[in-house]
Amino acid sequence: MENLLVAVPDTIPGAAPDEDAAVEHARSFLHALGVPCDSPGTVDTPRRMAEAYAALLSAPEFDPTTFPNDECYDELVIVKDIPVRSVCEHHFLPFTGVAHVGYLPGDRILGLSKFARVVEMFARQPQVQERLTVQIADWLVESLAPRGVGVVIEAEHLCMTLRGVQAAGTSTSTSALRGLLRERPQSRAEFLAVLQR
Ligand SMILES: [Zn+2]
Repeated sequence: MENLLVAVPDTIPGAAPDEDAAVEHARSFLHALGVPCDSPGTVDTPRRMAEAYAALLSAPEFDPTTFPNDECYDELVIVKDIPVRSVCEHHFLPFTGVAHVGYLPGDRILGLSKFARVVEMFARQPQVQERLTVQIADWLVESLAPRGVGVVIEAEHLCMTLRGVQAAGTSTSTSALRGLLRERPQSRAEFLAVLQR
């Protein structure tokens, strides 16, 4: 069983966050916004804020081992409704939704549970939805050399629904298609049809 070496993208924070500094700066930030954090309910809010953001920005490590496609499986593999939890890099507010990932295997396959790990690896950093979609697709292309890859993300951005235009319930869709899922209309249609079900 061959291990494929996969470089973890350097945009993922590698160093442990300085939690004490994050707590103090969260306190200053809230103070500057007129939130003094001196009531029983708010005295620990800076610490909780810091911990919440640290959690949103750290993905658990995973083993991206791929396997030979011994069964010569050559039809579409689609993993639907993978949770997406990320942070918009423009407003530092969360966006959440689902990712649907499909691929046409070549010589290598990836364990099905690993698709959620790949999504998480790229989601747990300051992001824009378009880049997140492309990064997942390109990682799969580089790691699996599949015949085709499709990634669709549907997400709600709190920066849209809580502020600005306040378009509650608005969902944003992005997609990245590679290889045969981009070039062959039949494969593309099959992938998109499965997502409608
Ligand atoms: Zn935003």
